[in-house]
Amino acid sequence: MPQTEVSPEGTEHVSPASSETGSTLYIDGAWTSANAGGTREIRCPSDGSAVAKVAEAERVDAERAIAAARRAFDDGAWANTPAWERGDLLIRVSDILVRDREEFARAESLDTGKRLVESGYDMDDIAACFRYFGKIAGTDAGHVVDTGSTDAISRVTHEPVGVCGMITPWNFPLLQVAWKVAPALAAGNTFVLKPSELTPATAILLLRTLEEAGLPAGVGNLVLGSGQEVGSVLAEHPDVDLVSFTGGLHTGRVIAASAAATVKRVALELGGKNPNVVFADADFETAVDYAMTAIFLHSGQVCSAGARLIVQDEIHDALVDEIVRRAELIRIGGPFDPDAETGPLISAEHRRKVEEHVEKAIGEGAVLRTGGRRPEGEEYANGYFYLPTVLDEVQQGSYAVTEESFGPVLTVERFTDEDDAVRIANDTHYGLAGAVFTSDVSKAQRVAGRLRHGTVWINDFHPYLPQAEWGGFKQSGSGRELGRGGLAEYQESKHIYQNLRPEPQGWFSER
Ligand code: NAD
Repeated sequence: MPQTEVSPEGTEHVSPASSETGSTLYIDGAWTSANAGGTREIRCPSDGSAVAKVAEAERVDAERAIAAARRAFDDGAWANTPAWERGDLLIRVSDILVRDREEFARAESLDTGKRLVESGYDMDDIAACFRYFGKIAGTDAGHVVDTGSTDAISRVTHEPVGVCGMITPWNFPLLQVAWKVAPALAAGNTFVLKPSELTPATAILLLRTLEEAGLPAGVGNLVLGSGQEVGSVLAEHPDVDLVSFTGGLHTGRVIAASAAATVKRVALELGGKNPNVVFADADFETAVDYAMTAIFLHSGQVCSAGARLIVQDEIHDALVDEIVRRAELIRIGGPFDPDAETGPLISAEHRRKVEEHVEKAIGEGAVLRTGGRRPEGEEYANGYFYLPTVLDEVQQGSYAVTEESFGPVLTVERFTDEDDAVRIANDTHYGLAGAVFTSDVSKAQRVAGRLRHGTVWINDFHPYLPQAEWGGFKQSGSGRELGRGGLAEYQESKHIYQNLRPEPQGWFSER
């Protein structure tokens, strides 16, 4: 695809989602600014340039959006629209996303600093997600239950949950939104979305797309602002029936606790500290190549990043030497630099956290093999870059392997045999994803079956499919996105039982 250089003062720096007036909240079918007039400037993490001005909502804006979504749900028009018509709308959305791929990708790259080519691939996945849920809308309306009697019929129907609050992170801004919005609409819900305050652009563009595709007013609403001010309202408000959150473990706990007061449904997609288990019989070049993409893609800011390399003793030295050699060759740069292979971290604050993580790991005995610092050079001065980092000889159970760094930081642990590998890979309070590399098919399947992680890849890393459930075991979350399970998250099951021969039962007799 074509790639453009960012010119320092050129138009490439202006996001297509920017609005001088700050009218970037979408409430009840209208674009509006924040009630108090607040705005936020969005800056590109690769050079600190201002790329957009958007509205900064407050509590009252979130409440207005929730009220609109509540009205739109309670009037029943959307929930009672035939499911295939809702599906058609999602397929129209998918078509528009394909048409506007470049515009969306550019907006995503300006907000995240992610390479343009990567944002383009994300757009393909997002379009596929809308198409998938468009196609399965209404294909599972429920089932008939055998009552064991000819005098009664019984069926279980699937209905929308109601008003859905959606809170999403900055690393795959629109992808995480798509995984919630597409199934929620397919199932007939209404929603209020609050994307990360750092990366709002593609959420704005998506709401424009939903509007163009014909989504009725009030069904989809967008509020932009901080988690504490706006996100918290979605979690606690009694008129929100479900809150779906993707983000960090700590925030997930806060949201679950706050949602408990109204016993709303809670779906959590949280972090991971994902093991990548490499056996000595794996194809060496393939294992090196995937170990690198597993952790250094998008500078490690991937919830399923293969941050823990767990390698069999026999090949430890050769594998780690080669990964270190290759990590030092990785070209870092801005989103529109055609030579760059990976980009910056999202913010100065996040880079500070990654730096602290590495310092702490070294303090507890990890051996720094490469990286562990910012790159040198003028071109990196205004961005939040951090070098690909490898920490070897990391102790099991230590901070380095139990806590997420969410940066380009690979830790290395050794194992002796299959049981040892499984024990180490499962020794984490997270359980999002993992991989096993081996040329032994039976061993691959055995190990995959024993890993306590929501997704396991064999001789691969990172692929996911809209039709396969995604989600975490243990403290990586609760509930599932994608697949039929992802649709079920947004459905209530209702049992309807009818007595076909009603007559008094006589349990309580008149004396
Ligand atoms: P974060 O938890 O800081 O923020 C996520 C969202 O929550 C943002 O929109 C933020 O504004 C909002 N928020 C913050 N505090 C809130 C509060 N008190 N109430 C309501 N909302 C609040 O996470 P992040 O830094 O944006 O994202 C990185 C994390 O997301 C990592 O831990 C990563 O592993 C995780 N993640 C998980 C998945 C997955 O599929 N499991 C996918 C992507 C990212």
